[in-house]
Amino acid sequence: MRVVILGGNVAGSNAADIIKKENPKVEVEIFGEESYFNYSRVKLPAFLCGRVQEDDLVSCNAQWYQSRKIKFNHTSISHNLELH
Ligand SMILES: Cc1cc2nc3c(=O)[nH]c(=O)nc-3n(C[C@H](O)[C@H](O)[C@H](O)COP(=O)(O)OP(=O)(O)OC[C@H]3O[C@@H](n4cnc5c(N)ncnc54)[C@H](O)[C@@H]3O)c2cc1C
Repeated sequence: MRVVILGGNVAGSNAADIIKKENPKVEVEIFGEESYFNYSRVKLPAFLCGRVQEDDLVSCNAQWYQSRKIKFNHTSISHNLELH
């Protein structure tokens, strides 16, 4: 089974994590249109004010996805794209 998730922030990344924990055999692939992995929107105001560094915004880095065997594509996906 293959699961494709649109959006790689907190909802998409946590969904992918839970799916893999429930069944490691499931192939999980995230399409996230941003050039970043999962980061905290909550900390954005502090980041913009210079009180938080960019690294501190990131909740999941590339290694987080690799270790869980979750493929992360930094690509937008259109709603009418056919997946095979
Ligand atoms: C400044 C700020 C402060 C906040 N503070 C709080 C707080 O204190 N407490 C709280 O509970 N919540 C807070 N929130 C809200 C919280 O950040 C959101 O509820 C949370 O980010 C929602 O996560 P999500 O993964 O559902 O959606 P999002 O974070 O919006 O992520 C969706 C992702 O999907 C991507 N995407 C969309 N369409 C496509 C597509 N077709 N193809 C590929 N990728 C796509 C988007 O680019 C985005 O990266 C705050 C938000 C902001 C902006």
